[in-house]
Amino acid sequence: MTRISVDRVYDTAMQQLGDPCHVSGVAGEKSPDTDEKNPAGMLSGYTIFLDRDGTLNPDPGYIKSPDQFELFPGVAKALASLKRAGARLIVVTNQSGIARGFLSRTELDAIHLKLMRLLEPADASLDAIYFCPHHPDDGCACRKPNRGMIDQAIREWGVDLDRSYLIGDHLRDIELAKRVGVRSILVTTGVVLPQEVEQLKASGSAPDWIASSLVEAADWLLSDVGRRAVERGGRQTTHL
Ligand SMILES: [Mg+2]
Ligand SMILES: [Zn+2]
Repeated sequence: MTRISVDRVYDTAMQQLGDPCHVSGVAGEKSPDTDEKNPAGMLSGYTIFLDRDGTLNPDPGYIKSPDQFELFPGVAKALASLKRAGARLIVVTNQSGIARGFLSRTELDAIHLKLMRLLEPADASLDAIYFCPHHPDDGCACRKPNRGMIDQAIREWGVDLDRSYLIGDHLRDIELAKRVGVRSILVTTGVVLPQEVEQLKASGSAPDWIASSLVEAADWLLSDVGRRAVERGGRQTTHL
């Protein structure tokens, strides 16, 4: 598995594009620290794992160049609100197109650079992007639903799984969430269609929540964290 640090992608981009002005604005801009609905720090210590294709962006198959990459409406704003609330945002994505020879790592870097640039105007940013470049037949430890990318994030970021969520569009994402024991949200913007949701619920592999978009997933996540904090507070009071 491979982690691209956000800084490294920008460094590479700076070398390639010679556009330091555009790049320098990224880390420096400060988000407002409060939001009426989501107080700053509400998600402090929380990690949100995000699938990429079908979750953040439409998935036409294998995306091979930045030109093919666009975010779903509202995604940048939704990620900005999670970030403002203090969450760490880590993308975990299967990119077997690399093993299949459909795209190179350089092209993947360029796509991720575009992803970060699309987030900038909303003051949103990612903390890391992990990708699995392997073929399903390689038997690697990092292709979702295997937990390799999450384990790497735990090592590198000290992720607290009790305070983590995974948002994805594929049953593989939900299975991974269950394997590592984090709460999961399925978005129906990708491979699982809204009409398949009932079947999914009946199968016993249901996520904690099903949302029609990442925007809705982010709203539910914030309310879930609030609700659970109240429950914990309530339990404490009972024990006193
Ligand atoms: Mg996906
Ligand atoms: Zn892998």
